[in-house]
Amino acid sequence: MPSDVYFTDFRNELGHSMLDKMISLIKKAGIDKIDFKDKFVAVKLTFGEWGNVAFVRHQYAKVLCDYIKSRGGMPFLTDCNTLYAGYRNQALLHLDAAYMNGFSPLSTGVHTIIADGLRGTDERDIPVRNGELCKTAKIGSAIVEADIIISLTHFKGHVVTGYGGVLKNIGMGSGSKQGKMEMHSSGTPVINKDKCIGCGMCSKNCAHDGVSIIDKKAVVDVKNCVGCGHCFSFCPKGAIECSWKGASADVYRKIAEYTQAVIQDKPNFHICFVKDVSPFCDCDHGNDSPVVPDIGVFAGFDPLAIDQACVDAVNKAPIIENSFIGKHAHDEGEHDIGHLVSPDSDWEAGFAHAEKIGIGTRDYRLITL
Ligand code: SF4
Ligand code: SF4
Repeated sequence: MPSDVYFTDFRNELGHSMLDKMISLIKKAGIDKIDFKDKFVAVKLTFGEWGNVAFVRHQYAKVLCDYIKSRGGMPFLTDCNTLYAGYRNQALLHLDAAYMNGFSPLSTGVHTIIADGLRGTDERDIPVRNGELCKTAKIGSAIVEADIIISLTHFKGHVVTGYGGVLKNIGMGSGSKQGKMEMHSSGTPVINKDKCIGCGMCSKNCAHDGVSIIDKKAVVDVKNCVGCGHCFSFCPKGAIECSWKGASADVYRKIAEYTQAVIQDKPNFHICFVKDVSPFCDCDHGNDSPVVPDIGVFAGFDPLAIDQACVDAVNKAPIIENSFIGKHAHDEGEHDIGHLVSPDSDWEAGFAHAEKIGIGTRDYRLITL
């Protein structure tokens, strides 16, 4: 059975707002089937790294949360901390980034909760239904405790996975630091010796004797390290890094399994903006110009069907000549943006796995407003 995916473009007659149009879209897509009354509603999004301006604007989050409140729900905006040293790798900086990027309680009318807490270690170990690579997933506690999950996603390219869509937002984005390590790699950090000043903060705060200081530099002991990710947020120099060595196919398969852990037992609904389709993630400090023109907004109950519809739409669109992949603008035949921005990526493996474990279907019926 194909899943219904609802779509609208960004055209508006004079005097009509895209904000109203998004609400019309989600109503048409059936969001009212969810009973929001007195429920905690996690609106999972990314606030964007400081310096990046391609993420979904806060006005959409506001009208979405206003609508959820009008249905009796208690929405909050949420994301988990990042692994890498940036503007969102602990909760205080993360909130700063959210506010600077427009997601303050004053502008959105709701609170923001960093789901995995101050240092990215407030997690729950959730059994993954049909999980093959991850029997359990380490998910930020506030997301686990929410009654309902609504994802608000910006669809774009990604250096590891080719595309960053709904599955990536939910799966990777809901993982705690340890969860993100598990998805990205074998789960052991590496030390950037050039940045390390030998301060010892990592070893003092490791509960497993996983890292020690030798010759004034940190050294990870892979026998003891359990991959908890705790040390990342103590390093003052951003010298502790993830190895990023997971192959793209396995990274995406694990993202699918983490997505399953987040949504498997609760009502969920998904909204995805194909706009400002930058070649790389909103996690980057900046964003390159879009690789295809703005397309529209997709919504529905099946996150996999929405991701597939977004991929198909992007791949049918003309490549913008003045962009990262502009040299392919006049290539004949079909193109795959995900492979063009990241030739080693294997997003198909992730989508196939998501279908296999029961997240949804790649077969969809597109209903255009
Ligand atoms: S990841 Fe956890 S166990 Fe490994 S060195 Fe860091 S703090 Fe220690
Ligand atoms: S906390 Fe960072 S800078 Fe300090 S010893 Fe550990 S890796 Fe090096």
